[in-house]
Amino acid sequence: AKNPVRVLVTGAAGQIGYAIVPMIARGVMLGPHQPVILHMLDIEPAAEALNGVRMELIDAAFPLLKGVVATTDVEEACKDVNIAVMVGGFPRKEGMERKDVMSKNVSIYKAQASALEKHAAPNCKVLVVANPANTNALILKEFSPSIPEKNITCLTRLDHNRALGQISGRLNVHVSDVKNVIIWGNHSSTQYPDVNHATVTTSSGEKPVREVVADDQWLNSEFITTVQQRGAAIIKARKLSSALSAASAACDHIRDWVLGTPKGSWVSMGVYSDGSYGIPEGLIYSFPVTCEKGEWSIVKGLKIDEFSRAKMDATAKELIEEKSLAKSCLN
Ligand code: NDP
Repeated sequence: AKNPVRVLVTGAAGQIGYAIVPMIARGVMLGPHQPVILHMLDIEPAAEALNGVRMELIDAAFPLLKGVVATTDVEEACKDVNIAVMVGGFPRKEGMERKDVMSKNVSIYKAQASALEKHAAPNCKVLVVANPANTNALILKEFSPSIPEKNITCLTRLDHNRALGQISGRLNVHVSDVKNVIIWGNHSSTQYPDVNHATVTTSSGEKPVREVVADDQWLNSEFITTVQQRGAAIIKARKLSSALSAASAACDHIRDWVLGTPKGSWVSMGVYSDGSYGIPEGLIYSFPVTCEKGEWSIVKGLKIDEFSRAKMDATAKELIEEKSLAKSCLN
């Protein structure tokens, strides 16, 4: 039998946490044959709720779930973890300054980075979900120097999946027939959902999405804003933010990273920029990536037109600003 993989979920008593832990325990993240031990962390005020989640996990009698650690001690939570899904973060509250939110998250991510640095298993893979996700991931990278930078990523897969959903809805095809959309940049409203390299499988083979949609006006405006603002639309409808789709996307992200992307298709992941596509090094930026044997690599050589260039640069600029804001919060 396979050794269990230890998966940390921070903010585990929250909405996304509550949606993701059963997915992990059912094998949605690591496959139906991989046993897991769940490590759940939350803060003291959520300790009782966290214990309730622990009880429910026991009651669900998941065959793959070999153990549960539920704790408010960050050091204990990080012990020997192979995968860390960072969902806990300080939420935006009405009237709060951007700098105040950043400052709270900088201190959270600094502390959690140090705990991972000390206690995580070698080669631990990290996915940051909590906002500002890209910049939280960057802070985490700064304060966990022994974790290879290629192991620290942030979630833009939800935006990627939303883009696939919009195209499939427009064309009235199944979502699995659409592939190779790209989310560039920040997991924020400046993200750029790009369909220039996306394809759709039709009865006469694989065709470019642009050709089949045949409506550049829609693709260049409404499609982009719908994807960018989908989170807000869900809050409006549900009176709560998206949790099941965020949890599902986080599972997709880790699954494809660990088990590989299908041949001929790529996904979007926030990763440490190596300067590809003229995006400055030193940012965590969402790129198209393929994954093989547990490692991602940026898809190279895609042609970038002027429209895309401007949007890719604008979201990079926002990340540079966030980075300097985060730096100013560090002392
Ligand atoms: P959620 O579980 O709904 O969200 C958690 C984080 O994910 C938020 O930062 C949220 O950002 C972010 N996020 C990223 N993408 C999405 C998306 N597509 N949809 C929704 N959220 C997204 O928050 P809860 O408040 O329910 O739970 C948070 C948990 O974290 C709580 O249990 C709390 O106790 C814990 N917490 C931990 C802290 C710590 O570790 N020190 C500090 C504060 C809270 P956004 O805010 O932008 O929606």
